[in-house]
Amino acid sequence: MDGRAVAERVRAEVAIEIARMDAPGLATVLVGDDPASRIYIRLKHEAAEGVGIRAVDHRLPEHASQDEVVALVRSLNADDAIDGILVQTPLPAHLDESAVLGEVAPSKDVDGLHPCNAGRLYLGEETFVPATPLGVMRLLAEYDVQLAGAHAVVVGRSAIVGKPVALLLLAANATVTVCHSRTRDLGRQTLEADVLVAAVGVPALIRGAMVKPGAAVIDVGVNRTDSGVVGDVDPEVGEVAGFLTPVPGGVGPMTIACLLQNTVRAARYRGGLLAFPQG
Ligand code: NDP
Repeated sequence: MDGRAVAERVRAEVAIEIARMDAPGLATVLVGDDPASRIYIRLKHEAAEGVGIRAVDHRLPEHASQDEVVALVRSLNADDAIDGILVQTPLPAHLDESAVLGEVAPSKDVDGLHPCNAGRLYLGEETFVPATPLGVMRLLAEYDVQLAGAHAVVVGRSAIVGKPVALLLLAANATVTVCHSRTRDLGRQTLEADVLVAAVGVPALIRGAMVKPGAAVIDVGVNRTDSGVVGDVDPEVGEVAGFLTPVPGGVGPMTIACLLQNTVRAARYRGGLLAFPQG
C-alpha cells in the first residue's frame, strides 16, 4: 500500500477545501527538544504550509512548568486566528500529559486526544479522530479491503493508535481482537487476522510465519535502528500478505495528511460551516 500516493490525494482534497475558505490556522506546541518530535513538527509545518494552512510554531523549554504549558494552551484556545491545536507528545516526564491534553478546547483538538473527543469516538459519534487511525482507515478504504465480517487484529493498545484503530474497525463491522504486551502466543492471534494492524514499537515483531496468506497488514511502527527507520513488521511479511504498508512511506505520510484534514474540520467548526457536537 502506497501511503505517499494516497497521502498526496488527501492533501489535494484538503487544498481544494482550503481554497474555498479563509486559511485555517494550526498551532503546534513543542516542549523540550526531543529530536524525533522536532522532525515531526517540521514535517507537519511543511505539509500544512504546502496546502495553505497557517502553521504557528510554539516552543517551550524542556524545563517549562505545567502552569506555563497550560497557560500557552489556554491562550491558543482563546485565539480566534487558531483553528487547531496540536501538543506534540510525549511531553517531558515532569509534566502531566493527560492534564495538558485535557486543556485543549475540544473544538480545536485536531489530535482527537481530549477525553470528550475520545469519548465520542467510543460512543460512535462524530468527532475528531486521531490522525494515525484516520490514516489507517483511509488506506484500507483506498485499497478496497473488506472490513465487514473480517477478523481484524490490532497489536498495541495506546490511546493514540491501538485503541482508536480498534474502535474504528469495530465501527466498520470487523470482528476485532486487541493484543498487547501481556497477550499469550501473539502469533496464534495474528495468524487469524484478515486485517492486521501493528502499532507496537518493536522492530520486526511480526514475522512472516505470524501472518495469514493474503492478509492486509498495516505497519504503524516507526523504530529508529542502526540500519535506519524500520517498522514493527518484518519485510518478509510482504511475501505472505496480500497488502503491506512500507516503512517509511506507509502510515507516516497518511498521519500528516489526516492531521491537515482534521485542521480543515476544525476551521469548518469555527466558521460555522459544521456544528461542533455539544455535550
Ligand atoms: P505505545 O508505546 O504507547 O504502545 C505500544 C503498545 O504495544 C502497547 O499497548 C504495548 O502493550 C504493546 N506492546 C509492546 N510490546 C509488545 C509485544 N512484544 N507484543 C505485543 N504488544 C506489545 O506506542 P504507540 O501506540 O504510541 O506507538 C506504537 C508505534 O507506532 C511506535 O513505533 C510509534 O513510533 C509508532 N507511531 C507511528 C505513527 C505514524 O504516523 N506512523 C504515529 C504514532 C505512533 P502494553 O499496553 O501491554 O504495554
